[in-house]
Amino acid sequence: MGFSITFLGTGAATPTLRRGLSATVANVDEKLCLFDCGEATQIQMKRFKVKALHIQHIFISHLHGDHFFGLVGLLFTYHIGKRKNELHVYGPPLLEEILRIQMGISVKELNYPLVFHPLSSQNLEMVCEEDNFTVSAFPLQHRLPAYGFLLKEKERPRKVLHQFIEDYHPHYTDIVRIKSGEDYVLPDGRILSNEEITFPDPPISFAYCFDTAFYAPIAEVLKNVDLLYHEATFMHDKAELAAEKGHTTTIQAATIAKKALAKRLMLGHISSRYRNLDSFLNEARNIFSETYLAEDGMTITLRK
Ligand SMILES: [Zn+2]
Repeated sequence: MGFSITFLGTGAATPTLRRGLSATVANVDEKLCLFDCGEATQIQMKRFKVKALHIQHIFISHLHGDHFFGLVGLLFTYHIGKRKNELHVYGPPLLEEILRIQMGISVKELNYPLVFHPLSSQNLEMVCEEDNFTVSAFPLQHRLPAYGFLLKEKERPRKVLHQFIEDYHPHYTDIVRIKSGEDYVLPDGRILSNEEITFPDPPISFAYCFDTAFYAPIAEVLKNVDLLYHEATFMHDKAELAAEKGHTTTIQAATIAKKALAKRLMLGHISSRYRNLDSFLNEARNIFSETYLAEDGMTITLRK
């Protein structure tokens, strides 16, 4: 159980030995969501010990090859690996046709149910709901229609204070009742209110923003996000090029994080032109101090 993010590919455009192409896994209580599936994502999953069969939802941001050319391979591996559980794929409507043509040539009928969810909303829209979290899509600004994703946990039950457990040794069934909001009645009839023996366990949120030009309105959608993973393809001296290509610079990504009051910013989709990334990172940190660079294989644990 827990909430973690693993970066499988943090590079841009073409893969290098250091950085694979866009792919990120969110693990929420062992339910896995994959955001983008660049070429060789399957290999990265093996390398970084991500259980591919546990992935239930795949979100494709847009149809540039570095964000989805690994998808068909993964779907095929699931097919010959005898996957049986449902797989949900979310992406621009054209992706459904691409998959139908590509998979249709290799495979008569998939061995598992694949449910495609076309994205078309012009606003923040919930596209996926699980027991413990939701994922919403929102439009970005890119050369092709592109979507960002916001994964948000639902309200979580309050946690029982350790001190209370140590002092009163409640029965397991009492703990279950307290977690559901009940007070605790002591043997002498005194009542300990739920509030005094529990503390809140705030829901966690994660946002994925790839690929996009600097687009200030998304700061509103991302308000107070715990972890913002935003593309930063270039340093700010290439701001003109970034705008032309529909990408974001270090300073622009940090500005979004600052406006959104994000708790932490991770930068990815980093151009392979940058060898020494110290000044790349510092440029962003001057705007938003809680900025870090994503690396392939890095896992951020947001809750244990
Ligand atoms: Zn792109």
